[in-house]
Amino acid sequence: MTSTAGFTAEDFSRRMARAASDATDAGLTGVLVTPGPDLTYFTGYQLTAITERITMLVIQADREPAMIVPNLERPDAESAPGATVVSVSDWADGSDPYEETAKLLDPHGRYAVSDSAWAMHVLGLQSALPESGYVSMTSTLPMLRAIKDADELELLASAGAAADATFDEIRQMPFAGRSELEVASEIANLLREFGHSKVDFALVGSGPNGANPHHEVGEKTIQDGDMVVMDFGGIKDGYGSDITRTVHVGEPSEEERDVYEVVRRAQQAAFEAVRPGTACQEIDRAARAVIADAGYGERFIHRVGHGIGLTTHEPPYMVEGEVRPIEPGLCFSIEPGIYLPGRFGVRIEDIVAATDEGGRRLNNTSREMHTVS
Ligand code: ZN
Ligand code: ZN
Ligand code: ZN
Repeated sequence: MTSTAGFTAEDFSRRMARAASDATDAGLTGVLVTPGPDLTYFTGYQLTAITERITMLVIQADREPAMIVPNLERPDAESAPGATVVSVSDWADGSDPYEETAKLLDPHGRYAVSDSAWAMHVLGLQSALPESGYVSMTSTLPMLRAIKDADELELLASAGAAADATFDEIRQMPFAGRSELEVASEIANLLREFGHSKVDFALVGSGPNGANPHHEVGEKTIQDGDMVVMDFGGIKDGYGSDITRTVHVGEPSEEERDVYEVVRRAQQAAFEAVRPGTACQEIDRAARAVIADAGYGERFIHRVGHGIGLTTHEPPYMVEGEVRPIEPGLCFSIEPGIYLPGRFGVRIEDIVAATDEGGRRLNNTSREMHTVS
């Protein structure tokens, strides 16, 4: 399965036209797109393997989009739905691919280039065109893939529903006596069962491990009395899921309930702050205010969220200092947490899409505290 299902040449054409105009607005000549999520977004072309041979899509305001590919990959490239609105050329082994690619560029141009472009390729172009300049895509055009259309939102909602279903199954299963690794591999299996083609992460942090937001998974055996933070997601039909739920093995203490409730209220407050025109940083502030008021301000040690789309983590970030306004179609996580070192942690994460009226949750499984056995 690919992310291109349902997207037409007109969709890709519209995306490329918007990129050209965004580049102009940013004072750039154009955008250089290399294999990975950017190329998928603009053409639907997904390489089976990304190799050292250069493939590059050139989008700029004053000319037709052009894509150069290795000659042996040309048939695959031309079968991509977006390739019909792009002029495709190729290069052969033995020729200088940078001289060939440079023909598509303005020799004095300044281009935003995909973050995942190979340094070798950018340096090759730089030496073929010494007067040209290159800047990173996310530092100059972070919003390029950020606003989702209706079809993209439905794919994200479907990925979210699959993550919800995974949580609903996992919380019925026994935790005490199993290792974090076992639970994580169960989560990964369920994500695939519910339609994911790829699992990006399945983090399980029990007891003190849950107090480390970077803890992935370990041999630790989960015990009665542990809080267990589970953060998992991946790709379904080309679009990402990312959810966190925290459960307790057996009856929680008063303090555990209190901490959980603070995080739940923080997540809700941030969700309620979502509306068009609000700066991204306000989402972070809304969650942080609730946690700080409860006396745990020092224990919420990361930004509240990140964008999601063709990848599970992408710009923009819901973080202090991000003043870009929320627009309808923007899709991002809201994931406040409280981490008590050496003891336990709580994080609750949903994906939310901004609408004309406010926010729409793409994760809808319960956020109440669940006890597991
Ligand atoms: Zn406990
Ligand atoms: Zn997550
Ligand atoms: Zn996340």
